[in-house]
Amino acid sequence: MDPQSIGTALVEWFRVHHRTMPWRTNSTIYHRLVSEFMLQQTQVATVIPYFNRWIEKFPTLEALAMAPENDVAKAWEGLGYYARARNLHKTAQILVSQRRSFLGLWPQTISEWEKLPGVGHYTARALASIAQNQPIAVIDGNVIRVLCRLNAITQPFNSKDQALRFLDPLAQRYLPPDQSSAYNEAIMELGALICKPGTPLCGECPIANACLGYQNNLDLPHIPKFKKPTYVKKQIERIFLIQNDALLLHRASSKRLHRIYELPAHDIFPAGCLKEISFKQIGQIRRSIAKEHITEIIFEARDTTDNYLPENTTYIPLNQIHAITLSGPHRKWLNDCLKKHL
Ligand code: SF4
Repeated sequence: MDPQSIGTALVEWFRVHHRTMPWRTNSTIYHRLVSEFMLQQTQVATVIPYFNRWIEKFPTLEALAMAPENDVAKAWEGLGYYARARNLHKTAQILVSQRRSFLGLWPQTISEWEKLPGVGHYTARALASIAQNQPIAVIDGNVIRVLCRLNAITQPFNSKDQALRFLDPLAQRYLPPDQSSAYNEAIMELGALICKPGTPLCGECPIANACLGYQNNLDLPHIPKFKKPTYVKKQIERIFLIQNDALLLHRASSKRLHRIYELPAHDIFPAGCLKEISFKQIGQIRRSIAKEHITEIIFEARDTTDNYLPENTTYIPLNQIHAITLSGPHRKWLNDCLKKHL
């Protein structure tokens, strides 16, 4: 089979076997834009309920552009990587202002898409090809796996970026004419459902006859090969401090958690400022972000000396905590913990 026939076989398989997803059912460019932002670093199953609530709240690009920043952050709460929400909001505002001046045109090229906040190499290609059917092959982790197995590529890669650069010219050869959108979704879907990480389901694969990895009986669960990433362990001490039925929270200024509330870190309090009388460990949160394994140890404090408050901290009444935007893991922990205080 030549590469384009393999691409066509994938499209035919996809038309019958694809999973239903809300951004596929109603596949406007706006729906695709929202889903591509949400799917960065996040699984489909997690994204679906967030996407449905988002579209109900912000049904159009214009509705999103006009929405207050706090509403946008709140709708994203729990999805993590909050810079995505901020960038999506800014992107909507830029597109709406441009559409007024440029007769409702969406970006027409990858480089126009890449000028928008939060639209990087992958997202620009996904939007141009999947949302606009431009002849561009998109490569994500699923596509890397399928292409490596299909072409019996066993060389190890140092990183995903290196694999992307290596596979880019090859990926382009599989695009069937005028079916870029369906092809890109098809090869990703094959990677998610059939050519899975671990043992692939080759008996159900529509391109098994053309697959060099399968035909040559290669060690498929170990293709592609990547050098193992090194994780760094990090520990953060957090403070849980309630005064007059209000909880002290810190509004983060980091790029990742921009303006999202979280329990304040111990190191933002000057030494000796926290009253140690009941300064005891009451909880622990573990999570992994990028290449960091993070453990957060939560200590309960009773008061600060002379009612001192570190910068960007504020007391939020306990009965209003549900209305603010909190970091997802802190919300989860607080939901359990505050039951005792409410
Ligand atoms: S035959 Fe197996 S290894 Fe090859 S593409 Fe299909 S599922 Fe993947």
